[in-house]
Amino acid sequence: MDTLILSPYFALIIEVKNILGTLLFDETFNQFIRIRNEKEEGFPNPIQAKRQKTQLKTWLIQNLAADIPIEYLIGISSPSTILKTSADSSHVPFRVIHIEHLIEKIKFFKQSYPIEVITSRQIKKISRALVINHVPGFLNVLDHYNISSQEIISGVQCPSCLIFPMRRIHGDWLCPQCGCKNKKAHLPALFSSD
Ligand SMILES: [Zn+2]
Repeated sequence: MDTLILSPYFALIIEVKNILGTLLFDETFNQFIRIRNEKEEGFPNPIQAKRQKTQLKTWLIQNLAADIPIEYLIGISSPSTILKTSADSSHVPFRVIHIEHLIEKIKFFKQSYPIEVITSRQIKKISRALVINHVPGFLNVLDHYNISSQEIISGVQCPSCLIFPMRRIHGDWLCPQCGCKNKKAHLPALFSSD
């Protein structure tokens, strides 16, 4: 989560992206295509703010018994980036904005949520709890490099035939392909040599 704005009326998650060129949201394949210098480049759908919204909602209810409306936006930080959508997708242009239009968007949300649901005291309590519980996590690294978790090869690699993954059997790693056994095969996965 890049930025969280808490107000007495609603919470807003803003994921800031710096993507230059023309950004086309392709609804059929659920991906962003960046067109720049006549080159097309696909990005996995960066709308992880939607997932964060669900996580935050659950967390607030479980930890602080606070049920707050949560909105999310993807803020494109470079004003020259052109935003386009491939089909009549209603939610994407709504959620993806140039960051300079943020104030208008906040005003819009304020109108949608006119009722105070939390006090400023509760806001302080939530902020403190969020800071304490914040774990700069694995997912942030993936977001940073635009990698989806499905792209990560996990497990222990066989040192002799290089396949993934080896199986853990009686304190040994066993390769299902070449039958090689190795007690230390997990070490390269933990301490990368490069
Ligand atoms: Zn092997």
